[in-house]
Amino acid sequence: MTRHDLGERARLALKRPDLLREAAWINGVWVTGDAVIEVTNPANGKVLGAVPALGEAETLGAVAAAHAAFPAWAARAAKDRAAILRRWFELVMAHRDDLARLMTAEQGKPLAEAQGEVAYAAGFIEWFGEEAKRAYGEVIPGHQADKRIVVLKQPVGVVAAVTPWNFPAAMITRKVAPALAAGCTVVLKPSELTPFSALALALLGEEAGLPAGVFNIVTGPPAPIGAVLTTDPRVAKFTFTGSTSVGKMLAAACMGTVKRVSLELGGNAPFIVFDDADLDAAVEGAMASKFRNTGQTCVCANRLLVQAGIYDAFAERLTNRVKALRVGDGLEGATDQGPLINAGALDKVERHIANAVAGGAGMLTGGRRFGTSGTWFEPTVLIDVPPLALLNIEETFGPVAGLVRFETEAQALAMANDTRAGLASYVFTRDLDRAWRMGEGLQYGMVGLNTGLISTEVAPFGGIKESGLGREGSHFGLDEYMELKMMCVGLAPAPV
Ligand code: NAD
Repeated sequence: MTRHDLGERARLALKRPDLLREAAWINGVWVTGDAVIEVTNPANGKVLGAVPALGEAETLGAVAAAHAAFPAWAARAAKDRAAILRRWFELVMAHRDDLARLMTAEQGKPLAEAQGEVAYAAGFIEWFGEEAKRAYGEVIPGHQADKRIVVLKQPVGVVAAVTPWNFPAAMITRKVAPALAAGCTVVLKPSELTPFSALALALLGEEAGLPAGVFNIVTGPPAPIGAVLTTDPRVAKFTFTGSTSVGKMLAAACMGTVKRVSLELGGNAPFIVFDDADLDAAVEGAMASKFRNTGQTCVCANRLLVQAGIYDAFAERLTNRVKALRVGDGLEGATDQGPLINAGALDKVERHIANAVAGGAGMLTGGRRFGTSGTWFEPTVLIDVPPLALLNIEETFGPVAGLVRFETEAQALAMANDTRAGLASYVFTRDLDRAWRMGEGLQYGMVGLNTGLISTEVAPFGGIKESGLGREGSHFGLDEYMELKMMCVGLAPAPV
């Protein structure tokens, strides 16, 4: 049964209302069910719609469909697969406005950011469609005169993907596009908080020519679906983006059948500003890195480490910029910040702020939730956050910039590396030698030098330490979905 708030549906104002699918997508069929999970708009708590609450049986069906579709999809010429991905990219871009409105409604991010994410998501489809044709193997000089060694790259097989709510489209295409380009088939479980972006992508994928069973989406409660995806022997590869705790648990479950595993997990990004930095650029970088998506990105600056000589000036300018942020419902005019995803996220932000303040931090702006409906929090700046405050040791995932003072480069590097996370990091300095020293010394998969925005489909994205395994995007991202096969060819002596 479908339920939704009529006003919310009208406010969506989709040019193509059928892009909002309230059904899972399995083996080329839209699957509904009696039990559903409602999807709400975090800006006001109203119900946008519902998706079926599927479980073990339907997930097994989706895996079977992907398994059956694999041989034919893998056997197609890479150029064929590339042509379908190209059409899919064009359809996503053609429906950019609708997809962005849907995303803002289910996730809360400002409409301009949603439009940016749709283009970013489409970029992965375009990029990997192009890369499909370049999955080159290698010829290795033989170790004996009568031997030849060839290395082939072949698709791993059925891929299971589990994705988070914070980038409801891009986190999907960053996995699905390289998998399909490589010749794999996919079963995806999107976040139950933001399934509509995923389902709209699937509809456009079908229109682009993806055959039945090649890309499947199962909606429902995470645990029963996850149990199948991590244990079914037909699944060759498991790829996950989400929290570190859930990722570790699911990766462990995958080892029973020795699946290939990729993990994109949480971060604790240091954002380091040296005295010699361009102050304006550093403040703009901090705004982009910290407050994008209401502070809910895995690469968000989590700790702002600022050198003593520039500390007060940076704090003042940042506070002025933060006070000017327009916070509001993205479907109701231009905004810079939306609501948080849910009440749990609000609680975490409040807990981190209270803990920092109890430890001696000062509040320069913000600090409170507001509004009578929805999950709204004021953009916040704190100074003198103690190094061991929760804000510095856990991922806050909210609009809170906490400043920590440091004196020397060695101190900044030690503080930055003192964490089990290793996803993104940022450094602002105009000293070239220092930039290299920091760039090489930071124990992170990604370093932004004098920029707060680092994500693109052409670069390898991913973490070290407990932030993940493997890389997404770039030509490296295709390798995550391919096996290397070595063929050692023995040659008979030439006839005399
Ligand atoms: P989450 O771990 O709660 O959920 C991620 C996904 O896992 C969701 O689809 C969820 O339904 C599913 N899930 C949860 N429990 C499961 C289970 N038992 N079995 C199967 N699936 C299960 O994370 P979230 O709150 O959706 O996302 C936020 C987190 O994601 C943050 O930690 C953020 O840093 C991280 N993230 C990382 C990257 C990256 O590229 N490294 C990108 C975006 C988000």
